[in-house]
Amino acid sequence: MAVASPTSILLDLLAPLSGVLVPLESVPDPVFAGKLAGDGIAIDPTSSVLLAPVAGKVTQLHRAHHAIAIMSDEGVEVLLHLGLDTVMLKGEGFTAKVALGDRVEAGQPLIAFDPVLVGRKAASLISMMLIANGERVGSMRAATGLVAAGKDPVLHLELRDPATEAPAAGGSVRSRTVTLPNILGLHARPAAVLAAASRQFQSVVHLLRGAAEVNAKSVVAILGFEVKFGDVLQIEATGPDARKASEALADLLAGGCGEAPGAAPAGAPAKPVVPKALVAGELAGVAASPGLALGQVFQYRPKVMEVVEKGADPARERTHLEAALRDAGLQIEAIKARVRAGVDAARVGILSAHQELLLDPGLLESALAGVGAGKSAAFAWRAAFTASAAQLAGLESALLRERANDIRDVGRRVLALLTGSVQTRVEAPPDSILIAEELSPSEAAQLDRTKVLGLCTTTGGPTGHVAILARSLGIPAVCGIDQAALNLLDKTMVVLDGTHGVLKQVSGTAELAQAKESIDRQSADRTRDHEAAQKPAVTADGVAIEVAANIRNAQEAREAVSAGAQGVGLLRSEFLFLDRATAPTEDEQAAEYGAVARILGPGRKLVIRTLDVGGDKPLSYLPLPSEANPFLGLRGVRVSLARPDLFRTQLRAILRAAPLGDLHIMFPMIATLEELRAARLILGQEAQDLGRSAKVGVMIEVPSAALIADALAQETDFFSIGTNDLTQYCMAMDRGHPQLAKQADALHPSVLKLIGLTVDSAHRHGKWVGICGGLASDVLAIPALLGLGVDELSVSVPAIGAVKARIAQLRKGECEGLARELLKLSTASDVRQRLTSFAE
Ligand code: PEP
Ligand code: MG
Repeated sequence: MAVASPTSILLDLLAPLSGVLVPLESVPDPVFAGKLAGDGIAIDPTSSVLLAPVAGKVTQLHRAHHAIAIMSDEGVEVLLHLGLDTVMLKGEGFTAKVALGDRVEAGQPLIAFDPVLVGRKAASLISMMLIANGERVGSMRAATGLVAAGKDPVLHLELRDPATEAPAAGGSVRSRTVTLPNILGLHARPAAVLAAASRQFQSVVHLLRGAAEVNAKSVVAILGFEVKFGDVLQIEATGPDARKASEALADLLAGGCGEAPGAAPAGAPAKPVVPKALVAGELAGVAASPGLALGQVFQYRPKVMEVVEKGADPARERTHLEAALRDAGLQIEAIKARVRAGVDAARVGILSAHQELLLDPGLLESALAGVGAGKSAAFAWRAAFTASAAQLAGLESALLRERANDIRDVGRRVLALLTGSVQTRVEAPPDSILIAEELSPSEAAQLDRTKVLGLCTTTGGPTGHVAILARSLGIPAVCGIDQAALNLLDKTMVVLDGTHGVLKQVSGTAELAQAKESIDRQSADRTRDHEAAQKPAVTADGVAIEVAANIRNAQEAREAVSAGAQGVGLLRSEFLFLDRATAPTEDEQAAEYGAVARILGPGRKLVIRTLDVGGDKPLSYLPLPSEANPFLGLRGVRVSLARPDLFRTQLRAILRAAPLGDLHIMFPMIATLEELRAARLILGQEAQDLGRSAKVGVMIEVPSAALIADALAQETDFFSIGTNDLTQYCMAMDRGHPQLAKQADALHPSVLKLIGLTVDSAHRHGKWVGICGGLASDVLAIPALLGLGVDELSVSVPAIGAVKARIAQLRKGECEGLARELLKLSTASDVRQRLTSFAE
């Protein structure tokens, strides 16, 4: 029930459940108690149907049906969460009475639940009602005691008017200075993490660099600030929770905003591509998605939307704009739900980034200023998003420039809703090579793959979302192509080379035949890889080699199995620990490890690597001393040994998955026998306590470990060689160093010698050896690795087919002869040359 006062809007939220109200701080879950998900109330329920506390629209309905969000007509997003750890029940015991996007009235049933079943299986039945967009709320008063569902008001809110929002009461607090650790600066992902975290606080929050400052709750403003690696930053917060905000956000910045420093952005191509010399008739661009495509030019130009400049009454225009923003969010949520049903993590990530832009206070503020000046919502919104996009497009960083396309995409989605125009699908004729000035991620996501064989845009680059989507769809793509491409006539025959970033007109039958031959070769290779992927990997002389996958989570486990992985040789468990404010609980971890084990089943090996963070990969909630040489400091297993609480929790969670599959536990960055013994001792205690067991392995990624492999092999079940780190430590060249990384070649003879030594030591003691570093996915290196005696290759999911196909072509005996030759060479380039001639 909302009441307008002269200066503010008052809103009462009704009790969603009957029961006793308890303070949020006393909820036995740090995320809720710490108000990380929002402020509000908790209730110990005596009823079993969750009711809408307010009229509005259902903006979120969790798949497990234990949580739901309602956007009230006043723009307050109310999150309702039934019980604690109920997500684990995966919907068991819950029945949704409404669907995403439904309009609900206050008191309407939302979710019914079985209190006996949920009470028995979940950690607690205590349920929360939280305000997700706290910045809309000026003040909040909670009732106490016993309440009746749908009758008693339990939260009294005084809402802020976003257009006239003034800094909340309370002083300003500046944080300590933080040097940004993110190699790529604050690009879209960490910027979104920072903005979302800032919005959790009621205070007005600014990100400061020297005298310059931007609104830290706005992704667009943060991107426009172009924060680079090494920039010295501060957080300034003004308002009631200023101190907490400034400290927490400074910690978040120092920790890389959920991004492992040195990491490439999601979906970036694995390797830089050597530029190709152009010949006549060729137009150059940037390689964005590999592969060759032969087809006819289809020039695509998006429809221009008609926009009226003058607005009606500003209050109506504003409501119109807010409704369009909400509806755009629902559209994206619906697309996400469809995409999630498939296996496309890249697309879900992009759509989430777009949802984040819809919440951007900077964009909203600027559009509302236009509305206030008498413009229509559509006109003001278009002016706001085009100005933001133009600002980003002018920045120095390619990564940030490419986000301009995302703003235009989201902007057009909202504009279409405001103008009532239908956003048309790209209707391409068969065998098209689509050429456009730019293509929005939404347009790219809806392309008909049976008709569009290749994509070519004059804007964007390989880290843009269109490029990421093209790679996930397997469509060759070139970005930033020469403008002349826009002048090619429709139906012109062209070849698009997404591997080298070239578009070439095909003239004459000889050229056409040559192009067809190359495409046929490519598809023959793909068919061969595809067929090989589904069979066990065996050399031509009958030696079985296990080809496993490197994955991060259950979703990727599914992808790995369907791509033909014979197991998982490396589950990088640290990904469960990133992008969050606290460490995952034992139950959360156990759920994910269990899900992976179930997907693989008992017939496929699962190697879970314990937490590999610290040093260069910090976690915001894991304060470690700052170090002069983080790669040589507290990293990998050293962190686990320094924090046995975290280590024991993780080991217990992993061990709980043991009955579900063929479980192996592996310790990262072991450098000494003492470290292995200390880690095993803790593991042994936890295993005994739980009555579970698992095989134990060591990652060989420090030269000392390779050199004492003989001793390590006697106290372990297997080795997996991390060639990424082994190379950097062997050659003293930082794997992420802009100049040195290229020379840090895992095919350097010194690294091959360490691999050989490790394999010989392991085999002497009857133990197997895998390679899980990037070298295992390099088809050129495979004869060398087989020759050195490696038993397993754990590779990136897309490489599985090609690696298996290459193994099938090789004879183990010949590879052994080759390896002996390679060990006598002195440089990486000599090794590469010899491997290239061996492959011919
Ligand atoms: C490696 O170092 O080769 C490895 C597989 O570990 P990560 O790349 O995760 O450090
Ligand atoms: Mg490593």
